[in-house]
Amino acid sequence: MQDTIKKLVIVGGGTAGWMTAALLKRVLAHAVDIELVESSDIGIIGVGEATIPPIELFNKVLGLDEAEFLRETKASIKLAIRFENWRAQGERYYHTFGAPGRSQAFCHFHHFWTRAQQLGDTSSLWDYDLNYLCAEAGKFAKLEVNDPVWEMQYAYHFDASLYGQYLRKYAEKLGVRRTEGMIEDVALDAQSGFVETLTLKDGRQISGDFFVDCSGSRGLLIGQALKTGYEDWGHWLLCDRAIAVPSERFEKTLPFTRSIAHPGGWQWRIPLQHRNGNGLVYSSKQYSDDEAADVLLGNLESEALSDPKVIPFRTGRTKKQWHKNVVAVGLSSGFLEPLESTSIHLIQSAIVRLITFFPHAGVRDELVDEYNRQSRLEFEYIRDFIILHYKLTERDDSEFWRYTKSMDVPERITEKIELFRSTGALTKENFDIFLESSWLQVMLGQGIMPGDYHPLADTLSEKQLRDKLTNTRQTKMQPMDQIPAHDEFLEMFTRSR
Ligand SMILES: Cc1cc2nc3c(=O)[nH]c(=O)nc-3n(C[C@H](O)[C@H](O)[C@H](O)COP(=O)(O)OP(=O)(O)OC[C@H]3O[C@@H](n4cnc5c(N)ncnc54)[C@H](O)[C@@H]3O)c2cc1C
Repeated sequence: MQDTIKKLVIVGGGTAGWMTAALLKRVLAHAVDIELVESSDIGIIGVGEATIPPIELFNKVLGLDEAEFLRETKASIKLAIRFENWRAQGERYYHTFGAPGRSQAFCHFHHFWTRAQQLGDTSSLWDYDLNYLCAEAGKFAKLEVNDPVWEMQYAYHFDASLYGQYLRKYAEKLGVRRTEGMIEDVALDAQSGFVETLTLKDGRQISGDFFVDCSGSRGLLIGQALKTGYEDWGHWLLCDRAIAVPSERFEKTLPFTRSIAHPGGWQWRIPLQHRNGNGLVYSSKQYSDDEAADVLLGNLESEALSDPKVIPFRTGRTKKQWHKNVVAVGLSSGFLEPLESTSIHLIQSAIVRLITFFPHAGVRDELVDEYNRQSRLEFEYIRDFIILHYKLTERDDSEFWRYTKSMDVPERITEKIELFRSTGALTKENFDIFLESSWLQVMLGQGIMPGDYHPLADTLSEKQLRDKLTNTRQTKMQPMDQIPAHDEFLEMFTRSR
């Protein structure tokens, strides 16, 4: 059995490496000595710009000043993702971080709305969502509210390379040691199979009790040295390449990500303060790299700022995210296409889990098993939510969409769809980071209208039901006049502090 963990080594200085260094040092402080090794010859992946709301908590735990963070990372606010051409060409819907209506015990707002629809109401469910209203109007404010009806959940778009550098300064200040160098050899203990020593190209050696593999998709420790194996999900998620290019900023910075479906994949547009991030995620069976570049560059709407960069990837996860004395964090642990901006969140969640199950007194099977169980479930639920978008398409204009529409999907997705379709009911699983409101918006947005609603929605008379909807809509609209344009907010907020 391994002894106390005194020295922890992080391999890699991308977003995963520096997020890990910052949070572990902040929380574990003097309990462990932390060294991070990275190679500027290899560099970082350098994409990954959209996040989901829990990132705000990550920054808070680190004690980062939000205005400084926005300035340093050229960030903008993200209220939603707008999906265009996903259900059918010309159609669009939002997946916002908000929730429509007002929450109510036992019976979600959408049940009342469904009943109203059956009675002839023509409003959209999103009309009752402040995130949607602000996204459409290009507005944002940090509202100080005492009624949750006006709470706006938000995340950020940021320059991931700048975020990494910002956290590097933070972590080094707390005492994390950084070593520059290319790791050429990984030595394992002959008996335990634990990683013992890393040898750099110039011969220097780095030893540790515990290692966090943040080496990116090459998985230097978890995949290459420990050979944990990889579970491939390419039969459900056909995209296996991305091509990315920054472009000039627009006059207005939109407070949402755009995801635009094309015949062989989909394109992201992420507005930052100083530029747009763009990319096309695609299937190599549908587009060659040259065709993908044409699709991307042909749909930019502003001047490209560099040549496009192709990034191949393999969708899936490493079979054991913790094995022996190595935990994989970031791309080394697996990859899911950035359709719902979940990779940086998976980094955050892996670090929090590592802290929760930290092997202070040495690696124990019970800790490893629980860590791996939770990590697997979290990955699988995100995978399922992404598959949902492809499965529910009505498109048949390419082999790509014809396949995704008719493919067999994991049973729990079908169960969720059928439950919602027939009753309007939604379920929430442990370790699924997407709440009912997320499943609701994507299912509705992609054309599933519930055939029934909860009986509690029948307790109102028809007039009461109409009044409820009208009042909710008016209440949601109430703060709109005081909420400034998104750019105005960024300017005021980042300047005033
Ligand atoms: C196309 C695309 C779009 C994405 N979009 C999003 C998004 O919108 N939102 C989101 O949350 N995530 C997104 N991601 C994921 C996100 O980019 C990554 O999760 C994040 O950048 C973390 O990467 P990483 O740190 O694991 O790996 P990397 O950035 O690849 O870093 C690896 C590190 O390991 C070091 N290293 C490797 N080998 C060695 C060696 N032999 N010796 C020394 N050092 C070594 C490298 O020097 C580097 O420092 C996207 C990913 C892709 C591919």
